[in-house]
Amino acid sequence: CNLNKNDFCSSLPAETPTASPNSNLAIFSSLKPLNLDGQLFFDNIDHASKDFGNRYHFLPAAVLHPKTVQDISSIVKHIYDMGTTSALTIAARGHGHSLEGQSQAHNGLVINMESLQEQEMHFHTGELPYVDVSGGELWINILQEGLKHGLAPKSWTDYLHLTVGGTLSNAGISGQAFKHGRQIDNVYQLEVVIGTGDIVTCTGKQNPDLYYGVLGGLGQFGIITRARISLEPAPRRVKWIRMLYTDFGVFCRDQEHLISTQNSFDYVEGFVIINRTGILNNWRSSFNPRDPLEASEFHSEGKTLYCLEIAKYFNPEENDTIEQKIDSLLLELNYIQSTLFLSEVSYLEFLDRVHVSEKKLRQMGLWEVPHPWLNLLIPKSKIHVFSQEVFGKILVDTSNGPVLIYPVNKSRWIKETSMVTPDEEIFYLVAFLSSAVASSTGTDGLEHILMQNNRILEFCNSSRLGVKQYLPSYSTQGEWKAHFGTLEWETFSRRKSIYDPLSILAPGQRIFQKAV
Ligand code: FAD
Repeated sequence: CNLNKNDFCSSLPAETPTASPNSNLAIFSSLKPLNLDGQLFFDNIDHASKDFGNRYHFLPAAVLHPKTVQDISSIVKHIYDMGTTSALTIAARGHGHSLEGQSQAHNGLVINMESLQEQEMHFHTGELPYVDVSGGELWINILQEGLKHGLAPKSWTDYLHLTVGGTLSNAGISGQAFKHGRQIDNVYQLEVVIGTGDIVTCTGKQNPDLYYGVLGGLGQFGIITRARISLEPAPRRVKWIRMLYTDFGVFCRDQEHLISTQNSFDYVEGFVIINRTGILNNWRSSFNPRDPLEASEFHSEGKTLYCLEIAKYFNPEENDTIEQKIDSLLLELNYIQSTLFLSEVSYLEFLDRVHVSEKKLRQMGLWEVPHPWLNLLIPKSKIHVFSQEVFGKILVDTSNGPVLIYPVNKSRWIKETSMVTPDEEIFYLVAFLSSAVASSTGTDGLEHILMQNNRILEFCNSSRLGVKQYLPSYSTQGEWKAHFGTLEWETFSRRKSIYDPLSILAPGQRIFQKAV
């Protein structure tokens, strides 16, 4: 049964809702007097108990499709006013691309943020261009609209079918983060509905404690309903380059060199290729070897290889100068010469690259499978120890998906945000992006991959590498405290007690429990 303001006001009988077996009558009648512009759903809400991770499934009691910020505010305020008499919690759901149920609310209320269309995208040109967007807006839509104005955000994630509120609650890290910071470093202003239902606007100067808390705050302090994102003139074309290394030390030196060089590439990432032959042939479809003859002679012989992936943005009229510039930057690198592969694509194609894989995987039925991902931030001083153990002993035979690895430089990152990082200035993001075959008991099965993830985590802990999880997931508050560290935990829990004193918001993160 779908309800909106008119249903409540007129068409429904006063006491007897059209209850389905699933609907929770108590919740139903408690929400009834709310005057919502959007709709509340009590049936057919299974999708809100699913996410990209495909491992945790908690059914909510209801799903709100809000039309206005006021809808969100009213419902949060209502549940806040019920105090500890109600166990109801609220999860904002962006695009549901969490990995372990973070956007779910067991028997609670899920707010479908993509329905919030009150805020039309509004582009502001001028010296410091920006766009005002809804917290439920997808980054791909911002890119497509922005390109019409010749503008685009500066910092991205590898995949753009994620919402603004979802990535800003984590950080938003990709190959541009060394240069422009994370997505959370590129936000001028936020509008947030906090855990009391109040609507608060915040910036680095106005309500800064809330602003920094919400950025990377895992949805704990408020629901982002609007964000002002900083923009730059959008380039039209991208030179996209990949090259291989067999020596991990040389690979890291080159990556670190690139992220600390001014006027270098615009994007720096990399990945590990474990025990795969014929990899170069796979690339030929979209990348051309600079020297086809030499490239055909390169054989990986099943060795672990490290692929550097870089990109330079440009406009067509700069083509000649950009090629010279790239050639001179490449001279500073020590990759295996015959493995230099190049491609040229539009800016949109480059940024939306993972969507192409998504479409292929969907066709093969391999997208909606369990994704036991593990994302780690490894201090630069420990990356070699980490690599010797992990790529030398734990992940030697195969990987069940891409393993990304690239360094980032914290100097452009705002330190007051809630995101937890290692202590060193430079650290590596290492992302094990595994897909599991649900029914398998072999090396591609969920159990095996989780066991491997645990071995990696245990090694990091026992060797005291100072590693932090990105997109963290823990089940006890003790683990969360250890994740944050004493000082940052104090700040985080203080902010929780101010902005969401009843612990209503984002229960799927399993950090705080609502008192009843
Ligand atoms: P959801 O999963 O819906 O929500 C995530 C959390 O944020 C939940 O706790 C939810 O309650 C909360 N939340 C959602 N909306 C709001 C809001 N408006 N206000 C407050 N809280 C809210 N991350 C990177 O940093 N870099 C990458 O390159 C990257 N690539 C990815 C590629 C793929 C294929 C996938 C599936 C994920 C990737 N991620 C990456 C991770 C991604 O950033 C997070 O999973 C993010 O949370 C997904 O956004 P979402 O809109 O689906 O959020």
